[in-house]
Order: sequence, then structure tokens, then C-alpha cells
Amino acid sequence: MTPVEIPPQDTNFTKLGLNDAIAFAVAEMGYNDPTPIQAQAVPVVLSGKDVIGSAQTGTGKTAAFALPIIHRLGAHAKRTRCLVLEPTRELALQVEEAIQKYAKYTDITVTVVYGGVGYGKQREDLARGVDVIAATPGRLLDHLEQGTASLDGVEILVLDEVDRMLDMGFLPDVQRIIAKCPKARQTLFFSATMPPELAQLAGWALREPTEIKIGRTRSAAETVAHAFYPVVGTQKFDLLLELLKRTDFKSVIIFTRTKMGADRIAHRLQREQHTVGVIHSDRSQRERVEALQGFKDGSFEVLVATDIAARGLDIAGVSHVVNYDVPENPEDYVHRIGRTGRAQSTGDAYTLVTEEDVRDARSIERFIGASIERKKLEGFPYIYSALFDESALAQAEAAAPKPAGRLMRGTRGGRR
Ligand code: AMP
Repeated sequence: MTPVEIPPQDTNFTKLGLNDAIAFAVAEMGYNDPTPIQAQAVPVVLSGKDVIGSAQTGTGKTAAFALPIIHRLGAHAKRTRCLVLEPTRELALQVEEAIQKYAKYTDITVTVVYGGVGYGKQREDLARGVDVIAATPGRLLDHLEQGTASLDGVEILVLDEVDRMLDMGFLPDVQRIIAKCPKARQTLFFSATMPPELAQLAGWALREPTEIKIGRTRSAAETVAHAFYPVVGTQKFDLLLELLKRTDFKSVIIFTRTKMGADRIAHRLQREQHTVGVIHSDRSQRERVEALQGFKDGSFEVLVATDIAARGLDIAGVSHVVNYDVPENPEDYVHRIGRTGRAQSTGDAYTLVTEEDVRDARSIERFIGASIERKKLEGFPYIYSALFDESALAQAEAAAPKPAGRLMRGTRGGRR
């Protein structure tokens, strides 16, 4: 589909080697300059080389691989030539939507394949022959086994958020999918961390990759202002309400550790007349899409989510993230706050910290390499706690059980 005549473009995107149709589409989306990962990755991907990349969330990673892929695919060819594997349905959908927009003035087609929904439309799209598939591993394997999808024509394979796929136990599926792609292909591999399993996978799946690193992979998004709000457990919800009342937020995501916790907070907020969407892994695909859509279009002011939803979701204009529960894994903190401060805009991240959480809060500070300011809400009827007294706190921390406590929490976190 090229209904519009594209005038010749001379932009910072064409300077990277991208064609006019792509430059025109991104200009229309308001992109003036490539982000650092785009400036680095676009020429490498255009040259056909393999890439191993790490970048913080919100850095423009999707366009960094999608724009040069659309350029390289050139024109529609009625078969799958590019496969993008994503760990979650939300991410797969998001990538499909982004590619639709970037390819708007080309005839390249894209579809999304994920589980939890019917097979009908996916089968039709696959039978028609689309150029790009964004997929989660499980459902794609189903289609491959049923013979309704084929990867024989894949020229470019993108493995995105590979560390997340590892966390979610998808690595064997990913390996089976890679094995079904032609050996002569370009492979792009993105992962925030590189544990040994992934280094091994990369060694097997990539050929002489160019390494692209943006920023410190462990750093929290620099545009985000962080604050810890110490509070006793029994006052957490009241403090949350007070924070919501006093903060001028456009939209806020509240993170909890457990699915039950997410549901509970959502109900309590609804009783307080907030409009709320909920995302966690026990919600059906339809409920998750509705929650995300409602949040994006502003019909929900609050989105309550577990960490499953934390990675990579691209939600423009999130002004605040509230960690109702301190994440037990410091990396999840970085992913949670990555929801704000995406691509140059700023955001705030509030974290409620109870006495139980002191140790996890400290590990977050160690992980991001900065101390986070402790704040108190003026006039809030705080119940006194050792939390408000740094020296007493140090003693409490020293007295707290160490490894056993951690293990217990680890099992709780497993039910996200
Ligand atoms: P990503 O890291 O791919 O999830 O992108 C994060 C956000 O940045 C998305 O909302 C993109 O639309 C936006 N974005 C990506 N590239 C640019 C750019 N060059 N200029 C402005 N915004 C961008």
C-alpha cells in the first residue's frame, strides 16, 4: 500500500541510510533525531550484520531494529521473512503496532501471533503471507507443529528481551524455533543481562555479532526522580491514597508483588472512586488488553500490575510509578521505573518501604548505585516506627534474619 507520493526526505534518519518512506513515517510520529541506540544499530543492521545489543527500556530499541528491517525487506513478498520473538503477548502486540506505524508508507505487512486467543485470525494472516511476524514462542510453535506457519523463508530473526525469556522458562522453545529458521540469516539478539546460558545461546545463534551497548545496563532511567516513603505495614494503603490525592499525576502504575495483592489494591482503590485497570498473569488475554487499552486511552487513571507487566510495556505519558511493594529483585525495580521517563520525558517513582523491606530497599540502592531520598508526607498521621530513625533502623536491619528470610520471600515472588 503506497497511496501517498512520498516527497524526498533529508533527515537525520535518511542520513543513517533509511529510505524516504520510513523517514517520512517517523517524522510523522514526531521523531526528530535518532536515539543513541538507533544511531548505532541502524547502520549495522542495514549492513546485514548480526547484532548483540543491550539497552535500557525506553531507549527506542524497537525502532532501532524495526526501521532497518523494514528498509531491508524492501517490498511485500507474501511470505514470512522476518520473525521477532517476544517474551509476552503485550510486548508482541506492542512491536506489531510499532512496525505497522513505521511501515505505514511501505507495503510491508506484519501480524502478531500469541496464545490465549483463538487460532482463526492468526491462521488466516499466516496463510495470506505476511512479511513480519511478532510472536511469543509457545503459540508460534503450535502453528509450526500444525503446519500453519513456516519459517523457511526467514531472512531476519530478532530475539528480543532474551533474559526475560530465560526467566519465564522459554529458552527450550526459543532454541527449537531458532533451529527451524534457515542458517543463512541475520540475527539480532537483545538482552539487558547476559548470564552464561544466554552467552551460550548467543554463541550458537549469532555469527560474528557487532556488540551495541547503550548506557550502563544496570542504571535506572536517568530522567526518573526516585523517593522512598517509609511507612508501617498497616498504613500502607492509607499512605497510597494520600499520595494519590496529593500528587498531580497524569497516569500512574502501581506495582504489587503478588496477583492477589494487585486485585486487592485495585478493589480498594475502586471503592475510593479511582478508575482502575489490572494486569497480571491470571487475567485473561482479553482482560489484559482491555486494561492496557483503557489505561492508554485515559479511561483508567490507575493501572495495578505485577512484575510480569513491568518489562518493556510502552505506555506513553506515565507520570508516576508507585511500588506498593518493594520488588525483591533489584532488577525488577529498574524495569518497573522504566515505565516512566520513557524517551526523554520525566517521571517520578515512589516506593513504600516497611520495616520488612529495609534490606530489599538497600539492595536496590546498591544495584542502581545511588541512594534514594526518604520522604515523609507532611501532615499524614504516621504511626511511629524505627523506620523513621536511621540508627534504630540500622540495628533492626542487623538483627533481621538473613538468608532464610530471603528464601521465604523468593517463593512468594514465584507466584507473580
Ligand atoms: P522503546 O524503547 O522502543 O520501547 O521506545 C520507547 C518510546 O520512545 C516509544 O514510545 C517510541 O515511540 C519512542 N521513540 C523511539 N524512538 C524515538 C525517537 N527517535 N524520537 C522520539 N521518540 C522515540
